[in-house]
Amino acid sequence: MTLVPFDDRDGWVWIDGSLVPWRDARLHVLSHGLHYASAVFEGERAYAGNIFRLRDHTNRLHASAGILGFEIPWTAEQIDDACLAVLEANGLTDGYIRPIAWRGSEVLGVSARGTSTHLAIAAWAWPAYFGGPRMEGIRLAIADWKRPSPDTAPTAAKATGLYMVGTMAKMKAEAEGYSDALMMDWRGRVAETTGTNVFFVMDGDLHTPDPDCFLDGLTRRTVVRLAQKHQMNVITRPIEAAEISRATEVFLAGTAAEVTAVREIGPHRYTPGPITETLMKAYDSLVRQSPATVAQSLA
Ligand code: PMP
Repeated sequence: MTLVPFDDRDGWVWIDGSLVPWRDARLHVLSHGLHYASAVFEGERAYAGNIFRLRDHTNRLHASAGILGFEIPWTAEQIDDACLAVLEANGLTDGYIRPIAWRGSEVLGVSARGTSTHLAIAAWAWPAYFGGPRMEGIRLAIADWKRPSPDTAPTAAKATGLYMVGTMAKMKAEAEGYSDALMMDWRGRVAETTGTNVFFVMDGDLHTPDPDCFLDGLTRRTVVRLAQKHQMNVITRPIEAAEISRATEVFLAGTAAEVTAVREIGPHRYTPGPITETLMKAYDSLVRQSPATVAQSLA
């Protein structure tokens, strides 16, 4: 497959209120967001023309910007409409949507006083995040980099700066033949991967770490709800690194990755099993329901 660079594609990108031809969606090199990571973003998926949990993504985008101290000059309704317009303009019913907001180029220095806020939204087809069947199970390395404490970085925000470490961890894992890396937090407890939350089956129950220093993903919350509906016992708690050896199933949850089984974490081996399969199927079915049915199912 030939790689088509992201700046050289056909299609349309929404930027600051208008749809522009894909190749014209540019920003100046002296943008605050580029130099100082004053940028927040979302990753959304559309299924059969509906964007799954669209308003929740938009609300998180606003909240992330608020945590970084800037305001996106568009209402949730306007952003939702723009996401759907971008999807349609690019002729997609199923795909990935990427809104990103950043501080502009009026001033350049650590202080961002006086910068305007920009918003762009793009959409493209993105089949399986890790490639291959999601039930097959991927291999995870254990990252050297740790997730920081919430008083060291704005860990509740989906802020671009937090992905600097994720990229380093993922690049190292891939160089060693793994698909991704499981990251511990600054206390040595299990946190998440570079782009998903993580679940473990232990003694037949579902365990997932407290999201107190990493993103409490929408997929994570959806999976917890689905598991409860399937009468599973869901335990959210601190999970020590040493405990991962005793899990019988492991899977990941994220918008792009959806529910993906794990078959290896460093030296530990797992066989993707029935709990992973049940939740994967339940998730795959829910995302294709109408927004009203989704809201009802998650209530
Ligand atoms: N953690 C990280 C670091 C992520 O990038 C993502 C993807 N946004 C998630 C968790 C999962 O979040 P969500 O389910 O809301 O996509």
